[in-house]
Amino acid sequence: MFQNPIKEVIDLSHEVSENMENISGWTTAFPMMDTIAKTRQLSGGKVGYAARMILISEHTGTHIDAPRHFVEDGMDVASIPVEQLCLPGHLLDLTHRKVGEAITVEDFEEAEKASGKPVGPGSALICWTGVDKVWGQKNMNRIRPHIPAESAQWMVEKNVTLFATDLIGMDHPDEWHDPTHLAWLENNICMVQQLCHLDKLVQKDFLFARSRSRGNRLSGARGRAGRLSG
Ligand SMILES: [Zn+2]
Repeated sequence: MFQNPIKEVIDLSHEVSENMENISGWTTAFPMMDTIAKTRQLSGGKVGYAARMILISEHTGTHIDAPRHFVEDGMDVASIPVEQLCLPGHLLDLTHRKVGEAITVEDFEEAEKASGKPVGPGSALICWTGVDKVWGQKNMNRIRPHIPAESAQWMVEKNVTLFATDLIGMDHPDEWHDPTHLAWLENNICMVQQLCHLDKLVQKDFLFARSRSRGNRLSGARGRAGRLSG
């Protein structure tokens, strides 16, 4: 067994399963292309391998939104500098906000004070609400607090590098024009959403790292998010 110099690695991503729907109702499919039994038979027993196709929305499960999601010709996923995806993490505890409540600028200012660090560029700002507990439930997009556009604008003014959260959608679920999404994306702030296990980050110094696919023109992408501490 090798000695990893990183003390702890925590996977902050939800698992994805076949037939799982995203918040817009698009489904997920992993159809089988080849099976070990089929290829073994075809090769007369020389080889057997399995392969599936993956059909999934960019915006399913734990994923990142790039500006291209809301801004024509905005930065796509492939153009996000990797330095913006691997950053010191800054956790803000907003778990006191309940279903249907707004997470206001005052809430963020208080959480900032409690965290002991100023909100600003050079870190992944992680908004922890605790809603990962209802993830996968029908109507999960409505069983959560929301972030009004003014709070997103507050982060824009503080020049936040990357926004991340366990929220399943950030806007008020009845505001179909998504003003919060727009406030971040038209100001080039990418958003990682639907994280889990954020309770494991409390009172720890950590690095937030996120993988992403390099497909150009993508408005969002799945990938794994994790927390490392050295
Ligand atoms: Zn998305």
